[in-house]
Amino acid sequence: MSGRSGDENVAWLIQHRAKQYLNLIEIPGYDDITWLNEPNNITSGTGLTPGHKLFLKNITKKFGILKILIIFVVLFILILLQMKLVFKDLASAKRDAGFSYLGMINNGSKHEKAYKFGELVYTIYLAPGNMSGYEVCAGRTIECTKLCLNESGHNRMDAKNNFINRSRIGKTKMFFENHEFFTRWVIRDINAGITRAKKQGLKFSVRINNTSDISPELLWIKVDGVKQNILQLFPDIQFYDYTKVQGRLRLMNKYPNYDLTYSYNGQNMETCLQLLRAGIKVAMVFEKVPTEYNGFKVVDGDLYDMRYKDEPGSIIGLKLKKVRSKPDMLNTFVIREHELALEPA
Ligand code: SF4
Repeated sequence: MSGRSGDENVAWLIQHRAKQYLNLIEIPGYDDITWLNEPNNITSGTGLTPGHKLFLKNITKKFGILKILIIFVVLFILILLQMKLVFKDLASAKRDAGFSYLGMINNGSKHEKAYKFGELVYTIYLAPGNMSGYEVCAGRTIECTKLCLNESGHNRMDAKNNFINRSRIGKTKMFFENHEFFTRWVIRDINAGITRAKKQGLKFSVRINNTSDISPELLWIKVDGVKQNILQLFPDIQFYDYTKVQGRLRLMNKYPNYDLTYSYNGQNMETCLQLLRAGIKVAMVFEKVPTEYNGFKVVDGDLYDMRYKDEPGSIIGLKLKKVRSKPDMLNTFVIREHELALEPA
């Protein structure tokens, strides 16, 4: 037993414990471990033992209060980033995500035409390409990216505030960063759409990719421990999309409720013609939509959007829409009027 006071005993104990667990602090003069008189259960009015207090004092002295605060803030941010949103109901989802809606029914001039056909179409608009930092268009080209429909219609006018793009970017990030939350919100919306369509005596269909090209197989949740994608969860609902990813077409064999129209991207005319010969529908953008192109019937794709209604092996002719970027006459994504005249007889 040394001749040190009780306080010195406490100090030694703190140093000993700190070295043992953290190996962070050193208190000069307290390296002697030949004496040991460990006091136990010494606490103050704050609930902290003198040991805790000394530990805090020494650690503060060593790192400085500012550095410690920064460490706490960084740890807090990291914890927040790890927190996943959980879908409970629509009201809390809107609050948690900061969006007033995820997808919409028959919205915009393109989809409201569905009313004429006795149909409601639920659609989602994400940020195309890698606008959000996440790539959602695996088959895109420079040509289609430049003339992407994302910045047509209302979004063309929103260049100053960019609200629409910002909202689409937020939703795309949510898809990648809070996948289950996103998918459960879509499931909720589809169920609501089915109910509304039944009440109004209308048909109901879903187009996930309006300004994106992601596989619907990526929208899945676990049901009784088994992964179920959105197509499997709603086998009686008609889903349809356009795609520039040729391999995606195989999903039509796998899921009878999924219809795909392949799209010309400015560089893939040979593939388009091969697919047309195989009975696949192919969408093409024209300066002036013809009735026939390269020997294939062209249907007016702007009359309605529900592509699953179209004849197999037909071209879906879409008229070039105005977008924010200036029209580029050399962009091969658009088939120009003079090219029609050059067609082989
Ligand atoms: S693939 Fe479609 S959605 Fe994506 S950039 Fe091209 S035109 Fe836009």
